[in-house]
Amino acid sequence: MSKHDQKELVIIGAGPGGYAAAFHAADLGLKVTLIDPEVNPGGVCLYRGCIPSKALLHLAKIKEEAIKASDWGLHFEDPEIDLKKISKWKEKSIKKLTNGLGQLSKSRNIEYIQGKAKFTTDDELEVSPKEGDKYKLNFENAIIATGSSPISLPDIEIDHKNIWDSADALELKEIPEKLLVIGGGYIGLELGSVYSALGSKVSVAEMTPSYLPGTDRDLVEVFEKNQPFEEVYFETKAEDIDITEEGINIVLKGKKEEHEMKYDRILLAVGRRPNSEHLGLDKIGITTNDKGFIEVDEKRRTRIDHIFAIGDITGEPMLAHKASHEGRVAAEVISGKKGAGYDPKAIPAIVFTNPELAWCGLSEEEAKEKDRDVKIVKFPWQASGRAIAIGEDTGLTKLIFDAESEVILGGAVAGKNAGSLIPEIALAIEMGSTASDISLTIHPHPTLSETIMESAELFFGGATHYKKS
Ligand SMILES: Cc1cc2nc3c(=O)[nH]c(=O)nc-3n(C[C@H](O)[C@H](O)[C@H](O)COP(=O)(O)OP(=O)(O)OC[C@H]3O[C@@H](n4cnc5c(N)ncnc54)[C@H](O)[C@@H]3O)c2cc1C
Repeated sequence: MSKHDQKELVIIGAGPGGYAAAFHAADLGLKVTLIDPEVNPGGVCLYRGCIPSKALLHLAKIKEEAIKASDWGLHFEDPEIDLKKISKWKEKSIKKLTNGLGQLSKSRNIEYIQGKAKFTTDDELEVSPKEGDKYKLNFENAIIATGSSPISLPDIEIDHKNIWDSADALELKEIPEKLLVIGGGYIGLELGSVYSALGSKVSVAEMTPSYLPGTDRDLVEVFEKNQPFEEVYFETKAEDIDITEEGINIVLKGKKEEHEMKYDRILLAVGRRPNSEHLGLDKIGITTNDKGFIEVDEKRRTRIDHIFAIGDITGEPMLAHKASHEGRVAAEVISGKKGAGYDPKAIPAIVFTNPELAWCGLSEEEAKEKDRDVKIVKFPWQASGRAIAIGEDTGLTKLIFDAESEVILGGAVAGKNAGSLIPEIALAIEMGSTASDISLTIHPHPTLSETIMESAELFFGGATHYKKS
């Protein structure tokens, strides 16, 4: 142990939560130290999550569109897949972004330490730098932004060769002939779609009765109509795994049937756990809940006034944009900005499959649970000129309004570019917009955004291009 330093703000973890907090805090005039094992900021999202998965899903979409185009008279040959080149392109995108974040960090005079940190007291950290000896530093304020990691199942251990986690799948080392994805959540469906487009025969086993547990059923139905998988096993547990030279034998135990199957690789996508162990939290009296998440107040403060927590470590929804927003809130609170706090009405969530599924705000299910008097309108994309022109007419736009006040409470979209449509609904919810506000806003033609305007028109009975019979 050598150095002993006093820092104004130390941020542990440089994912979208940590780096957004660091950049905003520096812009607000704080002296910031940011600690992370990677050479540059980025976290799971840039190195092993959002960005590489979306780069690969982009390729999958190109292939699927090319196949679809042959129905309209535009024929392409089967694409040649150069896995090495794809991997290089993906790595290039990651490097470009993370190097950029490194530059942004430097230009803000942020002290970036490549290494890991843990608490020794409530104002002291032990830092283990990537190079050199461990040392201690003191801080006035700290933000914990250490994110989350994939979980294994009790009987199915991730060995990174036969049994992959999402990071292994994103490494693109090989294209297995037969891949089983265990877990029908968004990560399983996105990565399963990538491998299916690359040529694997992909099957999915999911413990609950359908894909994407907890997600609006209308959206899931749209995905089901277009899903790219060979076999799908719902209400099924994977058991008795036996890894041999010839493949992986596994029993898929359903409620009624049992299947003895063989796959070349298995991708385990059954959830993520917070990285709250090994942080010394017990030493400083910060408790975690039964799932390991750190509990925080609306200022993102932990039980200790000058220690904050943001991002995946604080719980669902475990999404990059939620982490970044929390990071900016914590930075503002620490800088003394009055009124700063975390109070979103709508956090958009997107599944980047083909079709994309996106939602935000109150769901139909939640409205039922809360016994809220709502009016739900659904605009099928068969009635959208643009959707028909691009062969995307299985899509759906759905809005949920307070029945009396007309105020929009929630929304969901399934179809091409749903992820780019959902922010309009999120903004409308945050602004407290009414069905009249949305229906009277002129939307450009011909675009898929018109489905939002026309959904709002349905609140009053009929839309220009659709009337429920
Ligand atoms: C395959 C995949 C696809 C995804 N796609 C999307 C998507 O499309 N959209 C979306 O919004 N979200 C997506 N996510 C989720 C998203 O990546 C996370 O919600 C987001 O990264 C959380 O940000 P964070 O800052 O909380 O933590 P992270 O991004 O997990 O970053 C935490 C950082 O802290 C570091 N760290 C951990 N312990 C220590 C320590 N002791 N000292 C110092 N540093 C430490 C970690 O190494 C890491 O770099 C995806 C995730 C995966 C796995």
